Amino acid sequence: MSGETDLIAVASEVRACTRCPLHSTRKNAVPGEGARGGVMIVGEGPGRNEDEQGLPFVGAAGHNLDGLLAEAGLSRPSVFITNAVKCRPPENRRPMRGELDACHPFLRRQVEAVSPKVVVLLGDTALKEFFPDSTLGRAHGTTITRGGLLFFPSYHPASVIYNPSLKEVVKSDFRKLGEIVRALEPV
Ligand code: URA
Repeated sequence: MSGETDLIAVASEVRACTRCPLHSTRKNAVPGEGARGGVMIVGEGPGRNEDEQGLPFVGAAGHNLDGLLAEAGLSRPSVFITNAVKCRPPENRRPMRGELDACHPFLRRQVEAVSPKVVVLLGDTALKEFFPDSTLGRAHGTTITRGGLLFFPSYHPASVIYNPSLKEVVKSDFRKLGEIVRALEPV
């Protein structure tokens, strides 16, 4: 199956998914969207706005993400955006282990299908999906190569809403991300 076809297949399976209890409280599943072959962004899970629209990062955190992408010199349509879980956890609580495990095969297939240059892991939940023993305090703003993929962890764009002192840290991480992406581009 081609990458594009598999992304479409994953999205339709996600929309019909009943693998974990989150399906019973969702309005819309949020498979993710965007372009293949560039930067892939992985967040935690849909919030209220995302659940209503079926689209990733369209609420306050999405607004922050747009600003951060601009810091990196990246446009939203040029990246692929998804989450560790594709359905909203009630009251925006953190996804539970069983929910993350049920959704993980979708995320893996999306990584395969997108074939990204860099996988950006936003926040602790996304980081731990790939690197369970890492901590954001140490890993943010650094690159990790594994299994032929390049990962770049940073803080979640919503974390600056609760912790304004992280704002400059996250901005600086994204400027570094921009440099990394430009260095990977053919000249
Ligand atoms: N937070 C996330 O992690 N993902 C979204 O899509 C929105 C908010």
